[in-house]
Amino acid sequence: MAITRLLIANRGEIALRIHRAAHEMGIETIAVHSTADADAMHVRLADHAICIGPPPARDSYLNTAAIISAAEIAHADAIHPGYGFLSENAQFAEIVEAHGITWIGPKPEHIRTMGDKVEAKRTAGALGLPLVPGSDGAIDCPEEAAKIAAEIGYPVIIKAASGGGGRGMKVCTGPDELETLMQQAGSEAKAAFGDATVYLEKYLGNPRHIEFQVFGDGNGEAIHLGERDCSLQRRHQKVLEEAPSPVISSEERNRMGGIVAKAMAGMAYRGAGTIEFLWENGEFYFIEMNTRLQVEHPVTEAITGVDLVREQIRVADGKPLSVKQEDIEFNGHAIECRINAEDPWTFAPSPGLVSSYHAAGGMNVRVDSGLYAGYKIPPYYDSMIAKLIVKGRTREGCIMRLKRALEEMVIGGVKTSIPLHQALMNEPDFIHGDYTIKWLEEWLAKRSA
Ligand code: ADP
Repeated sequence: MAITRLLIANRGEIALRIHRAAHEMGIETIAVHSTADADAMHVRLADHAICIGPPPARDSYLNTAAIISAAEIAHADAIHPGYGFLSENAQFAEIVEAHGITWIGPKPEHIRTMGDKVEAKRTAGALGLPLVPGSDGAIDCPEEAAKIAAEIGYPVIIKAASGGGGRGMKVCTGPDELETLMQQAGSEAKAAFGDATVYLEKYLGNPRHIEFQVFGDGNGEAIHLGERDCSLQRRHQKVLEEAPSPVISSEERNRMGGIVAKAMAGMAYRGAGTIEFLWENGEFYFIEMNTRLQVEHPVTEAITGVDLVREQIRVADGKPLSVKQEDIEFNGHAIECRINAEDPWTFAPSPGLVSSYHAAGGMNVRVDSGLYAGYKIPPYYDSMIAKLIVKGRTREGCIMRLKRALEEMVIGGVKTSIPLHQALMNEPDFIHGDYTIKWLEEWLAKRSA
């Protein structure tokens, strides 16, 4: 059954990204939007648009009944969830499939397993991925926690099994504070995620965040598309991503990529996925798997030439992957800057009217954004308003091109993080690729001191 009418259950740049891939495949698109997004670019460009509720996400973009009704009214034969919102909601995926609509995403059971970080770690371990040393599953008894912490050595990190978005983590430096922090972590996790389950992990002092893009056809074929380095983070949130990582050799890429692809083949994984690792002293440690497209997927597209959204749609439609592992070549270097509507130094959100807009262009420059002059950035959603993705033949060339492209970007009327990215491009540590997950916060602290 070929997909002909695709409903995009998301907003912003990713909704536009999905619309573009669909139209390039001759597929009609249906945008669903909140009242706050009636004038959004993807709503204007889609073949059909349906309002699904008021601005708060729980009443619109998370409103499963409204989205399914819209799909039925518009005769959608497939739903793409993008990232965030309902993309990792196994129950929603099941509801979509129960309505006879194609779910453009992994099998619901895989979304469920990987959504529980304790289960995810167990599965990853069984599939042969290297893990961060820690508790073998959930932990609720302080004595047991103390025993494990002593074995793996302090500091340890207490993490919520249902955690996400960098929330629900506590670092513990010694046995005295373990019990209190466990209780705090448990009650915070309960409040934020409705699940108090926590587990324990060795806290790595100064790692990099390196993740592998994987793709499966759902029938036991799976490939990897190399790694992305997402170590530049603030409050565990990614700010800038690059591919390849400045520290991973092609031998390491092939070795680790081979391991993750084999693991995905072993579980007959379907669609796009990301296996996240921390990397320290040359060793990889699995932390979690995201069963969806990632914000930073364009850097992988830039260096491999593979359109990941097109592949997602193909695989959901029962077609094989259009590329084999041996077809994947890594060419050049790509960097993505997340451009947010916020003060570049205080990070205070800055929604409002975009008075002028000009996107950077030129060779190997890509801007994924729904912005236009006269657009009003609503205050209700994530502050990311654009992604600037630049490719160069070398990392050095890529940085030079990125500096040039950042100069060209005009986003008037609101504050943006462009000045932050410009400052980063002149930092010797960044230029040398010499940074870990701690680096950005330390640099920001020094700057404001
Ligand atoms: P989330 O699902 O909330 O994104 P992750 O498990 O992916 O949580 O972790 C997010 C970030 O937290 C990582 O990129 C890293 O910066 C930090 N982190 C997680 N686990 C550890 C650990 N064991 N040691 C040190 N830092 C960690």
